[in-house]
Amino acid sequence: MTTAKARPSIQHAAGKAEAKKKKLARHAEDAATAPALRSKPSKMVYYFGKSRCEGTAEMKLLLGGKGANLADMVSIGLPVPPGFTITTDTCAAYYRNGQRLPHGLMNEVHKNIALIEKETGKKFGDNGNPLLVSVRSGAAVSMPGMMDTILNLGLTDASVAGLASSTGNVRFAYDSYRRLINMFGDVVMGVDHHHFEEAFNKIKTKYRAKADTDVPEQGMIELCEAYKAVYQRFKGEVFPQNPFKQLELAIEAVFKSWNGDRAISYRRIAGISGLNGTAVNVQTMVYGNMGDDSGTGVAFTRNPATGENALYGEYLVNAQGEDVVAGIRTPIQVDQMPKWNKKVFAQLLEIKTKLEKHYRDMQDIEFTIERGTLYMLQTRTGKRNGFSSVRVACDMVRERLIDEKTALLRIPAQDLTQLLLPSFDPVKKKNAEVLTHGIPASPGAAYGTLAFTAAEAVERARKGEKVLLVRKETSPEDVEGMHSAAGILTSTGGRTSHAAVVACGWGKCCVVGAGELEIDPVKGKLTVKGRTFGRDDVISIDGSTGEVIAGQIPSVEPKLSADFAQVMKWADKYRTLGVRTNADTPEDAERARGFGAEGIGLCRTEHMFFEGGRIKAMREMILAETREVREKALAKLLPFQRDDFIGIFKAMKGLPVTIRLIDPPLHEFLPHDEKSQKEMAQQLSVSPEKVRSRVASLHEANPMLGHRGCRLCVTYPEVLDMQVRAITEATIDCLRSNIKALPEIMIPLVGTKKELAVLRAQVERVIAEVKESEDYRPRLDIKIGTMIEVPRAALTADEIAEKADFFSFGTNDLTQMTFGYSRDDIGTFLPDYLSQEILTADPFQTLDTGGVGQLVEMGVRKGRATRGDLKVGICGEHGGDPKSVWFFHTAGLDYVSCSPFRVPIARLAAAQAAIKAGK
Ligand code: PEP
Ligand code: MG
Repeated sequence: MTTAKARPSIQHAAGKAEAKKKKLARHAEDAATAPALRSKPSKMVYYFGKSRCEGTAEMKLLLGGKGANLADMVSIGLPVPPGFTITTDTCAAYYRNGQRLPHGLMNEVHKNIALIEKETGKKFGDNGNPLLVSVRSGAAVSMPGMMDTILNLGLTDASVAGLASSTGNVRFAYDSYRRLINMFGDVVMGVDHHHFEEAFNKIKTKYRAKADTDVPEQGMIELCEAYKAVYQRFKGEVFPQNPFKQLELAIEAVFKSWNGDRAISYRRIAGISGLNGTAVNVQTMVYGNMGDDSGTGVAFTRNPATGENALYGEYLVNAQGEDVVAGIRTPIQVDQMPKWNKKVFAQLLEIKTKLEKHYRDMQDIEFTIERGTLYMLQTRTGKRNGFSSVRVACDMVRERLIDEKTALLRIPAQDLTQLLLPSFDPVKKKNAEVLTHGIPASPGAAYGTLAFTAAEAVERARKGEKVLLVRKETSPEDVEGMHSAAGILTSTGGRTSHAAVVACGWGKCCVVGAGELEIDPVKGKLTVKGRTFGRDDVISIDGSTGEVIAGQIPSVEPKLSADFAQVMKWADKYRTLGVRTNADTPEDAERARGFGAEGIGLCRTEHMFFEGGRIKAMREMILAETREVREKALAKLLPFQRDDFIGIFKAMKGLPVTIRLIDPPLHEFLPHDEKSQKEMAQQLSVSPEKVRSRVASLHEANPMLGHRGCRLCVTYPEVLDMQVRAITEATIDCLRSNIKALPEIMIPLVGTKKELAVLRAQVERVIAEVKESEDYRPRLDIKIGTMIEVPRAALTADEIAEKADFFSFGTNDLTQMTFGYSRDDIGTFLPDYLSQEILTADPFQTLDTGGVGQLVEMGVRKGRATRGDLKVGICGEHGGDPKSVWFFHTAGLDYVSCSPFRVPIARLAAAQAAIKAGK
């Protein structure tokens, strides 16, 4: 095969990109007729070379990342082949001029080519010692492979002979020429690559050559003739024999590629906007394919997977850059280079140190060795994973390359997940068969055979099997099965649906809303894209990307290093925002404290009603027809609740614990299928009819907006009584045993001041009663506050604050009610909203600052206008999302609360917000 890569043809543009291009063209036409806009940038070309270097590292917007860094490398004395950069402003002018190169550009290009000629002693288009150049794109933000590149430009029938004689290598010269004709034809003139491929195959057959490299010198000469014929057949003209004509057309092609389909899509996906266009880098060609003393390679100045401070990369002897990328030959690890060329390796190490000292960050470099001489072709900031970013940041502080604040800003907070939870081995995952995508609800990596009900998951896990619980959706009833499973996969639901929230709290991998899955729990079958999986089949899920993968992908266990602890220490030094956790068991509380949580911001008490015998008492309470019977059932729950709270207080060692009173609608505690209803009836010694009719009477059309939250306690005040009694008794019990307990009672779903006033009075009465009955005299400081999760609560926060000691924003419900998007059903339409850019992010993951954020800001402002000392936190899932944490910092919240595994992420994100705000 040839090395020029096949690309989607420009003519086959997708509808959307086409529409966008038409719009751009319209703008361009309009602009072209407006003389005022015809102006050209004052200086369009910046030279870089030994004789003169006009650009600097700071000029990325104007010269693009590649152009600015090439100039910068020259200025610090690195061996860079000379060249010049045409500015991004010139690209903008090209579009303003109706896609015509600005006047005077080619004059500047001629002058700069002359400078290169002077510096290199070669001449453009010469038949003795020709200068050849590469023409590459380069925007201010790196868009790897998204725009066009043309190599070996300047070769013509005359100069190819010159190249052959100046290098003494005829095959090399004609090989370079055929590459140019192919690339120029394909990229610049739109002649489809496969026409060249066909011509190459004919030559290979003629010379019985298996690989491209087997074609002899004469074959290459004939191939150039064949390629020129292909070019002429499709373009109706001969391949340009004027090197400046080639250059002009190539520059224009690079400008055009800025608005090619690939580039437009890439910018959309990566969220890149507001840029001028691409720069064009024209640079002297150097050759890594001139023999066994030549080569080419790519390397990172540190290991991007582990962070180890050692050059990491690979190279190929006698090859061009594209050969490394194309994967035709197996490259050699860069640490083996001394066996091949000690001097070049030593030089590379020197350059590594120089670059890191200069950029104060890990670099990703491209280099070529031409007949033993090393040339640098590119340097840019190296991409790295979570492990590597932590280690590199800490090492660089130790090496005095950066300070602590810079180190903290360098680590993407979200990437800490890789240090806290298992992740898939990236190498093994590369070749995996991705069946579909769901919503990545709880990070980590998991695989297992498929279990279709919670009971099945529990049973098979008990026997030692690793299972994946696969459900249409999960309900609180599935809790045990979810806990037993290695991971959870559902076909409906969103990030804040039950499965997601519970799994996240446990650090258990979970993908929800994978709408393409058809799950048949009766037959024990999962179907996706025509493939069927049963109980014995293994599926892997990636909770960080939402990928659902066929088969088992090996995972990598998390490692907590001393560097991680160091990063956390620095983060705590700079952050001003508190970080609490959402936890409802002593184990979760303990784990979260280990991760640095400064308290519990949300203890969801309803999760305590499911385990063991508790669900029975809960169901008795729900079936009760009188207050008396209800109280009897609640009395059975009270000791369980009290012990739970004692356990949590002990685990939190005097840190505040915000306990939320019951929140979900009662139907969630009852079974909905006939078989389970019969079992429940038997257990409770009532008729199945009674169970059925209670389930029916609790049915609501919109349970999320129905009888839940504080509304339950208005109807059933005895539930509040039991819970507050359990909290108060647990507190007194702890205090009497010298265990510091600091509970805060939180009332959910409040929308009016009156609701809170009524329930607060009741809470205060119960606390007083317990103190009395326990004969406890000291002051008992139990704060009473509310969640702000109904828009009306935010709008009337000044009134509500009269009755609240603290606020905690429940941004899950607040998002649901502000948008009117169901938390449980967003998976049905979210993918369309994201792909059509109606939404830029899942609003249940990243706070919608423009809408929901306004309510948060208003709630804080109004609440504090009433009570200056009002403590304000947030306990929705957004508390662990770095972007949202940044917003909460600026909105003046006191703390965020998130699931235990996200606590370190929130600590780092809070520090980053504080550092950025202070800058
Ligand atoms: C919320 O609504 O943001 C919240 C934390 O409560 P829950 O998710 O339990 O409804
Ligand atoms: Mg809520």
